[in-house]
Amino acid sequence: MGTDIKNVGIGTRFIHAGAEPDPSTGAIMTPIFQTSTFVQEAPDVHKGYDYSRAGNPTRTALEKAYAGIENANYGLAFSSGLGATDAIIKLLSAGDEVIAGTDMYGGSYRLFSKVFERMGIKFQYVDQRNPYNIAKAISPRTKLIWVETPTNPLINIVDIAAVVAIAKPHNILVCVDNTFASPYLQNPLELGADIVMHSSTKYLGGHSDVVQGAIMINDEKLRDELYFLQKSCGAVPGPMDCFLVLRGIKTLHVRMQRHCENGRKVAEALRKNPKVGKVHWCGFEDHPGHEVAKKQMRDFGGMISIELKDESLEAAVEVMKKTKVFSLAESLGGVESLVNHPATMTHASIPREERIKNGLSDSLIRLSVGIEDAEDLIADLNQAIG
Ligand SMILES: *Cc1c(COP(=O)(O)O)cnc(C)c1O
Repeated sequence: MGTDIKNVGIGTRFIHAGAEPDPSTGAIMTPIFQTSTFVQEAPDVHKGYDYSRAGNPTRTALEKAYAGIENANYGLAFSSGLGATDAIIKLLSAGDEVIAGTDMYGGSYRLFSKVFERMGIKFQYVDQRNPYNIAKAISPRTKLIWVETPTNPLINIVDIAAVVAIAKPHNILVCVDNTFASPYLQNPLELGADIVMHSSTKYLGGHSDVVQGAIMINDEKLRDELYFLQKSCGAVPGPMDCFLVLRGIKTLHVRMQRHCENGRKVAEALRKNPKVGKVHWCGFEDHPGHEVAKKQMRDFGGMISIELKDESLEAAVEVMKKTKVFSLAESLGGVESLVNHPATMTHASIPREERIKNGLSDSLIRLSVGIEDAEDLIADLNQAIG
């Protein structure tokens, strides 16, 4: 008996989404169907699976879970967050236009500017904190608005409902990269967005042991088009990776609750450190996006970025070399805390001039606050900052 996950609390939903006991054995955990192909009784007579690029039972369980955790009708799993993004942009054709934000994940910017521009899709980058900038950028060829909120790495907030209100009369699709918030904090489809995308590598997997991406949608036609692209272009995850994300999702609510609690404690402590200049965290009442964050998010998460009063690159590098509990690494959203230098690491593919203009300084330090003891995290940052 499966649990009806539409009418239960978020924790019950995360644990039971996509989970059915294995019909052949009763195994409570979805088996890892480590197979590339499936034996057929006669040509095209089979049990629903013919080849693992087109479909695999472990992936099917995860795709049901993806739908469940965003309250969506459909979920699709991809080999990485960028694999998912790639499929979404391939809904468009040469000559079509996309409006994206000035502050977003560097890899998305690279895919847009270095790959899809070359194929004739045009991208405009506007400061989406003010939705009016999006309205001004719309042309008859605009087909998609790409929103990331909170943004990576500056923790800016974009008003999803306001963007949807601007897009709808023009029949423009709205896709939200919901990686930073996770479905625990924010459900963009419920705010009217058409597509949600996640790098499952981050909070959904949650243990820094898998690279994967997800798409959630309500519209059946859109689902069919995206499934066609998934199957035709082939950016599918393997069954073992699907199993790992299925397992990660079961503790998402517990982990996120602690990420949020620790995020608040760390952000407040950093503000008290006399050597710290700016602390970007959307839970502060004086954060410019705080009211919108309060409206569209359940809490404020564990992603923080900081700038030291000493704005030199050397000072920032010293701090990143000295942390002991925080590890210096790309990625985010795992149980362990990470520190990252966007200018040389995650966002190095954005030209320096662009970065600086958009507020991403050379000395910005990004923190993914994990779920260790907050006291240890604060002590570690304070000793590193000195
Ligand atoms: C990491 C990340 C991506 C890309 O995901 P991959 O799984 O690394 O391909 C996209 N968007 C955001 C906000 C990210 O943090």
